[in-house]
Amino acid sequence: MPKPLDRTTGFFNQSLETLAPTERAGRLDAALSEIVQYAYDTAPAIRRKLEQADIRPANIRCVKDLEQVPITHKSELAALQQADPPFGGFLGMPWDQLRRICMSPGPIYEPEALHSENDRWAQAFYAAGFRKGDIGQITFSYHLVPPAFWFEDALARLGCIAVPGGVGNTDLQVRMLRDLKVSGYIGTPSFLKVVADKAAEFGYDLQNDLQLKVGFVAGEMLPESLRSELEHSFGMLIRQGYGTADVGCMGYECYHKSGMHIPYNCIVEIVDPDTGRQLGPGEPGEIVTTVFDKVYPMIRFGTGDLSCYTDEPCPCGRTTPRLVKIMGRLDQVTKVKGMFIHPSAAAEVAGKFPEISAYQVVVTRENHVDQMTMQVVLKAGIAPDEDLAGRIGTAIPQSMRVRGRVVFVRPEDIPENAPKIVDRRKWD
Ligand SMILES: [Zn+2]
Repeated sequence: MPKPLDRTTGFFNQSLETLAPTERAGRLDAALSEIVQYAYDTAPAIRRKLEQADIRPANIRCVKDLEQVPITHKSELAALQQADPPFGGFLGMPWDQLRRICMSPGPIYEPEALHSENDRWAQAFYAAGFRKGDIGQITFSYHLVPPAFWFEDALARLGCIAVPGGVGNTDLQVRMLRDLKVSGYIGTPSFLKVVADKAAEFGYDLQNDLQLKVGFVAGEMLPESLRSELEHSFGMLIRQGYGTADVGCMGYECYHKSGMHIPYNCIVEIVDPDTGRQLGPGEPGEIVTTVFDKVYPMIRFGTGDLSCYTDEPCPCGRTTPRLVKIMGRLDQVTKVKGMFIHPSAAAEVAGKFPEISAYQVVVTRENHVDQMTMQVVLKAGIAPDEDLAGRIGTAIPQSMRVRGRVVFVRPEDIPENAPKIVDRRKWD
């Protein structure tokens, strides 16, 4: 009997993933100087952006210096590309150095280099538990968008075999999983649930007829309840990663599920969206990323996603900081008393109380002070009372970091499909 693989320890690149933080900072600063000069010389959009801000490449010598550089927001990319087609002036290599061009919703075109040193998804797959010899079935789309191709590349870098399942075709996908003894799943968590149900329908035993040992999921939120259900039913490990089509991998979980490690070879800042300043550990802000890929050298790319980071040590031994969680989209955020309030935080509060049937958070301003009120509709047959109001009131700052009042209202006061957060502040 061969020994089972150790999927819980080890590294894709031990020396670089476990660098002392000061040493890694020195390497990132050097890589940053190089890519800024390179992009300035080769990508007209980067040259324009720096010149408009009166910055010379030599001014950017360390990560802190990035605060001077304007952020290019994901929401601007489609228009930038239309004005200067097809890549908006961000292409950093000659066309004969391209392998592939993808198109993401927007539309936004993404160039991919013939030869890339980008191993960030390979780091993610190793941390998730993929090992040499694994057979990984990729259930992301092979049409137009880049992720399936990236994940094939990551499998190849680890010495794994890829099965290009693509989306849908659940019957065939389940059959391939069984016939090929596929050991790794790559896809969304919800499709893995669909696979589990289909396999059960075929009468397969999820742990004997299928051989799944490890899963890498991305593309949607992963509720812990769904993760543990799937891990138990398949007898596998499931870890998630975070990235966008524009800049690739920005975070991945290790065995310890303690947040998403930022790859050692990119710069991820958490930034105050109002000022562009870098924020410290635990402070929520926009994820802004700089990558060293010469084909598409994004310098300060604003993802529009909200997170915060921790640099507390992780038991896995990786010394890179971790994104604690993705808190949602910046364009859904309201700032109250200096804190970002996201609909997902309000949903977290409401989720703790089965008595609540609908809610809406209303932000007002009284005597120049922000006030937050959670309007709550109770389920039929449940009477409002002080005790329940008090418990909801206690839960509000735990999830939203700002205190708020609780007011019970009638069902007709909150129309269906009403926004979960309404800003009624007037600033005149
Ligand atoms: Zn870790």
